[in-house]
Amino acid sequence: MRRKFDYNLQDNQIMDNNKVIIFSAPSGAGKSTIVNHILKLHPEIEFSISATSRAPRGEEKHGREYYFFSADEFRRMIAEDRFVEYEEVYPGSFYGTLKSEVERIWAKGHIIVFDIDVKGGVNIKRIFGDKAFSVFIQAPSVEELRKRLVGRGTDCAEAIEKRVAKAASEMEFAAGKFDYILVNDDLDKAFAEAEKVVDQFVAR
Ligand code: 5GP
Repeated sequence: MRRKFDYNLQDNQIMDNNKVIIFSAPSGAGKSTIVNHILKLHPEIEFSISATSRAPRGEEKHGREYYFFSADEFRRMIAEDRFVEYEEVYPGSFYGTLKSEVERIWAKGHIIVFDIDVKGGVNIKRIFGDKAFSVFIQAPSVEELRKRLVGRGTDCAEAIEKRVAKAASEMEFAAGKFDYILVNDDLDKAFAEAEKVVDQFVAR
């Protein structure tokens, strides 16, 4: 029996007007700020709420920022093949896109926007092909990234070096795998550039 939604493009299950936009970035590059800016401008674009096994932070609510699950529940859902993609982004913390989430947003005729780690972004692009537009947001340099993380003051020196090393390897991994590289050295300029490329993709 054919599943209601599988991601085999040969099946023609993905309709012509179904589109997705992917934003990926190393930490500290300003990804969430840019995604939120785009969401404010485009009522037809909707945020894909991921599932995660990490605990909620601060005011985060189940079904708003994330769908929160225990690690056991998350593993059960993997076994049931309920994810489009998932990654263990940090040791012990799983993050993934549920097939039901993609269906939920497309059923409304909306375009999906993903805020997702670099590997997940590459996977989603591979699955959705030309239905997807993938943007890699990059801090201007590894040095600048280090400066921002130091300036933010939320991480100790060791944690900063870990994040910087991860960012450097993610930049290397991302090279050539995204449709667009957006260098965020000035937030207003980055907003304008993101608006322009998103508008072009939406109108396509
Ligand atoms: P945070 O814990 O700070 O909310 O997110 C950590 C990282 O996980 C971020 O880079 C975020 O983009 C990524 N992430 C969030 N949802 C997903 C997902 O569904 N799949 C993947 N692969 N990464 C995700």
